[in-house]
Amino acid sequence: MPHTIVTETCEGIADCVDACPVACIHPGPGKNGKGTDWYWIDFATCIDCGICFQVCPVEGAIVQEERPDLQKTP
Ligand code: SF4
Ligand code: SF4
Repeated sequence: MPHTIVTETCEGIADCVDACPVACIHPGPGKNGKGTDWYWIDFATCIDCGICFQVCPVEGAIVQEERPDLQKTP
């Protein structure tokens, strides 16, 4: 099952972007409710490796399941 970036928890640090082996983490437009940049995971491409979850420094920004209700997907 793909991972999910919680749009309103992500702080746009982007450690996950370079770590993803299939380059499926993309910048979202504008800012989130915290006023920071935010990223989203392409569920169709994610291979569920868990690396993004391991490298993200923000508690709760990535959840290890597909949660389209938590992640904005442009
Ligand atoms: S999910 Fe985590 S590592 Fe990725 S951009 Fe958001 S805060 Fe940064
Ligand atoms: S679980 Fe792996 S493939 Fe999926 S977004 Fe995270 S780093 Fe990329």
